[in-house]
This record gives sequence, C-alpha cells and structure tokens, in this order.
Amino acid sequence: MKFLDEYRDAEKVKVLVDQIHSLNLPRINIMEVCGSQTHTILKYNLEELLPEYINLIHGPGCPVCVTPIEMIDKAVLLAQIPNVIITSYGDMIRIPGSINSLMKVKASGADIRMIYSPLDAIRLAKENPDKKIIFFAIGFETTAPANAASILTAKKSKLTNFFVLSSQVLIPPAVKKLLDSELIQLNGLLAPGHVCTVTGTKWCSEISNQYKIPITVTGFEPVDILEGILLTAKQILLNEHSTVNQYKRVVTKEGNLKAQGNIYKVFEICDRNWRGLGEIKQSGLKLKADFEEFDAEIFFNLEPSQHHEDERCIAGEILQGLKKPTDCNLFGKDCTPTKPVGAPMVSSEGACAAYFNYRKVNE
Ligand code: SF4
Repeated sequence: MKFLDEYRDAEKVKVLVDQIHSLNLPRINIMEVCGSQTHTILKYNLEELLPEYINLIHGPGCPVCVTPIEMIDKAVLLAQIPNVIITSYGDMIRIPGSINSLMKVKASGADIRMIYSPLDAIRLAKENPDKKIIFFAIGFETTAPANAASILTAKKSKLTNFFVLSSQVLIPPAVKKLLDSELIQLNGLLAPGHVCTVTGTKWCSEISNQYKIPITVTGFEPVDILEGILLTAKQILLNEHSTVNQYKRVVTKEGNLKAQGNIYKVFEICDRNWRGLGEIKQSGLKLKADFEEFDAEIFFNLEPSQHHEDERCIAGEILQGLKKPTDCNLFGKDCTPTKPVGAPMVSSEGACAAYFNYRKVNE
C-alpha cells in the first residue's frame, strides 16, 4: 500500500540504522513528543536497533493522558445529571477520575456513548431533542478542527441541547515548558507530524531558534522515526539547530489554513492545567463568548471540586520524560490495561500501555 509499505520496508530500516550507527556522538537525549511515535518505537522494537549513544525520551503527546483529573471528575458529575448523554472517544471513558471513571458511572446507569467523531454527538442531539448531549472534547491541535466544526454546525442548526466540555490543549507551550525545565536535558526533538499537519512547522522553527535545539517533524512509521532520529542526530553532530521536515508527504510549512481558521473562529487561547505537567500558560482552548451557549461548564454552572490523584502513579514524571513506565512499582502488576490506575495505561497513545503491550511481545 502506497505511503505505508515503503515506510515499513526492512531494507530501508537497515540502511537508516547503519547510518545512525556510523555517527560518532556522545550520549544524546532525543524526545519523541507524540504518543503515537512512542507506540511505533515500542511496537517495532526500534530502541534495540539503535546505538547506545541515543537515549529516546517519551514526551507528553498523549491527549488522553494529559487531560487533567478535574476534567474527568467534571465529566463524571455531568454524566449523573438526569437526561444528560455524555459522548466522547473510547479511551476517555476508561480514564480513572478521583473516585469514578465514566465507565463506572455508565455501569450504574448513566448514559455514556462512545463516538468516533464530534459530528456523531451532533446527530445524537438532533435525534434526542428531550436530552442534553455533552461532547467531552479533548486533544491537541489535531482534533480541534473537527471539534470546532461540530460547534459551528450546532450554531448553524440552532441546537439548544448540544454542549461541549472542552479540555483541549496546544502542543507548543508544553514543549517549551519541557525545554525550560532544569530536570531534563534534551538535545533534539521529533515533533508530532499529526499536529504539524494542522499547525504547519513555523512554531517548530521558532522553538529551534529560541532554544537552539534541532527539531525534525516526523511521521509515525518505522522508517519515519529512524529518519527523524538520523536527521536530528546529524544536526546535533554538526552543532546545528534548525527545523527539518521529514514528514513532507503530509506536513507543509503553513499547515492547514482552513482548519486553523475554524479553530480560532470558535476557540480562544487560555491557560490550561495538564495532568502531570501542571498549569501551562496559554496552552489551552476555550470557547469564545460568541459560542458560550455551547459551553457545558457555563450552562451547568460547574463549580471547582476537590480531586485527588493516586499518589502511587508516576504518570507526571513519565509525561515529562523523567521516568519510564517500568520505573513505576505498579507497572504490569497492580496497573494493567484491564485495571488501569493512571491514564497512560489506558490510552492507545499512552507510554505505559505501549510498554505493557509491546515490551512483553518483543522480549
Ligand atoms: S504503570 Fe499505571 S500507575 Fe504506573 S505510571 Fe503508568 S499508569 Fe501510572
């Protein structure tokens, strides 16, 4: 299949691995920002192919994992209001909150539906005029255009029973927070190809210049990842710090201008709490005043509530690249995909789930 087989080609993988091995470098830390990239690395056991000098650090690019616990608690609270239907993506339903997950309240009778697109929530709102449909919107710049489109559709259709619980976040401020941290020394970054499809690569170039760090916008197949590592390592060797686009078959410098236009028609930038990373200034999206009638937090007048994380879960350190899932005492024993304690064990992009699913297979 075009754009797939050629990026999983064993010969190409071998050539890239040989080229990476031929570079003469001291130990370097390269962070793959996106959780899907982490899954490819684990699934294809790419770390085993790399020389000792390359230390891959898993980044915070798992949207489900970084959704703060207070937002899960709010969704759980909303789900228990009569005549409310909560809709969201499958992983969100299993993420543990302070006391309950959406899955648990569903088992107690709450109406919670898994959807594949926010437009499914719009359809539900049209089909159920006597119910209030809440779409729990999470994700990075990748999902924001579809979420914005659903709100524009709701406005156009004059829907009065469709609401959005928005916990959307933006990748660049989180990357900057990690680069500002003194806890971790990063020598290069693999930027998330999916996010850059929407945003373009300008923000990467700005970060490369500001932090003097090489960035490679990278795709999600084994050849993509290895090429991203090679291009980044070459820059480190030459003491260069620019942004290179490995994922040219999808990403352009400008990104998707129509999608960007839709996002900022509906949303404005706000401060946002990230699970594991704390509050990051100007890192979230909230509905603009013109669309406030769809804001579930305003309509249902949700007050801030007490919440607590399971202290045994080290997801925060994993999302910052400070620890690996196998450093967690609960990993694979008290925390597994069927009985997750923290979000990274639930999400299909979570590092703990990747280690659990692939490390065993590859060992
Ligand atoms: S293994 Fe489970 S408890 Fe440990 S960090 Fe990962 S999600 Fe948290």
